[in-house]
Amino acid sequence: MKKVRFFFAMLSARFLLYVLKLLGRNATFLPGKIALKIDKDFLGELTPPKTVIAVTGTNGKTTVSNLLNSILLKNNYTVTNNSLGSNVQAGVATALLADSTFTGKAKKEIAVLEVDERSSLRIYPYIKPDYLICNNIMRDSLARNAHTEFISYIINKSVPSTTKVILNADDLVCASLAPDNCERVYFGLGIDTQHEEAPSYLQDIVYCPDCGASLTPEYIRYSHIGRLHCSNCSFSSPEPDFVITQIDRENNAFTLQHHGKSEQYNLINDNIVNLYNFCGVIALLTTIGLSYEQISSAFESTKIVKTRYDKLSAGKLTITMQLSKGQNPTACARCFSYVAKLPGKNKAIIFVGDDFEASESPCWFFDSNYSYLNDASINQIIFTGPRSKDQYLRAQIAGIDTDKIRISCDSKSGADILDIEKSMDIYVLYGPYMVKEANIVKQKLIQLGNEESVS
Ligand SMILES: [Zn+2]
Repeated sequence: MKKVRFFFAMLSARFLLYVLKLLGRNATFLPGKIALKIDKDFLGELTPPKTVIAVTGTNGKTTVSNLLNSILLKNNYTVTNNSLGSNVQAGVATALLADSTFTGKAKKEIAVLEVDERSSLRIYPYIKPDYLICNNIMRDSLARNAHTEFISYIINKSVPSTTKVILNADDLVCASLAPDNCERVYFGLGIDTQHEEAPSYLQDIVYCPDCGASLTPEYIRYSHIGRLHCSNCSFSSPEPDFVITQIDRENNAFTLQHHGKSEQYNLINDNIVNLYNFCGVIALLTTIGLSYEQISSAFESTKIVKTRYDKLSAGKLTITMQLSKGQNPTACARCFSYVAKLPGKNKAIIFVGDDFEASESPCWFFDSNYSYLNDASINQIIFTGPRSKDQYLRAQIAGIDTDKIRISCDSKSGADILDIEKSMDIYVLYGPYMVKEANIVKQKLIQLGNEESVS
């Protein structure tokens, strides 16, 4: 009976996959959903690829998954990947189903599965990852993954003890994840790679998990990312096995040390969150057996996908499109800090407000550090979308001169209310669900820039 149910689920899901593809529709969620509706153990009945890599964490999952996928493909591995689709149970089921034989056997060698933290409980009991990489655990949207302790509890409960975990040593919440008997590999950034940043409002780990005494920071980069130790017992941040020791922005390179070796890689992007992503990716690929030559040559020709970061010119305007995960205080603060620190003056920032924000509490604005935007290099800030008035209030509290701020409830209208006489350097910040609206803003900016150069 079990087998019959599985094959019926497989048949139905495959048919749906075929029809959706034929209609040119998004086929990354529904087929898996139908399969799981018919057979709730569907995932467990599939034979996964020989090596399964799970990618989890609050920020950067998609970037890490895309990098892993791209580097493995460049080295001629065959890979199943869900990073362009859904990262919940149905999305994982769809990705594995699409790359399997009729009897459910994997056709590819490796699966790189992006896994939503909360979905761990519904995925890992069926598909046991050989490797799990987690780059950070941060406070998230109240409606989504809320608090770090809640998420840690879910992941700890579901990661099999046979999984080798690759964890960020500079994030004590992340570094403490997974059962004690899991084999662990740590990655991090050396202290010299980035100066200490402005103090954050968020500190999600302040007490020693061993003795309960207050933790003492050696340094904090942002939120709870940094190195801490307990003055009362021997607890401290773990020493990273893979560590980025030097950033050479002039020559677009960074140095990484591990196991007594020092290696140079191409610096694809110098945003600190991406440095952690790169370090984690190298740690994982080295752990599964790829050589320095295989990884570094792929880094030479790898870019962050255009939906997450893009830079272009239109007449006198320089337009930078930067994904900034909405409803997520740390991801937004990282983005603000990054833009403020970039060279240049008279920068304009356009927020493509997330429509979903209208139905959720705006309290995350107050967890995020808007004071990064109170920077002399930024002379225009445009908040759009249904929460633009809340953003205006938040910016006022951060001490930003309100003469610099303009607002509109229409998420697509940022370019319409921008004064291009004032700013040549435009940053468009948008959430993952606002790519379409952000592209409309981009097209209008291109048009404005080109018109300006003609006249
Ligand atoms: Zn202690």
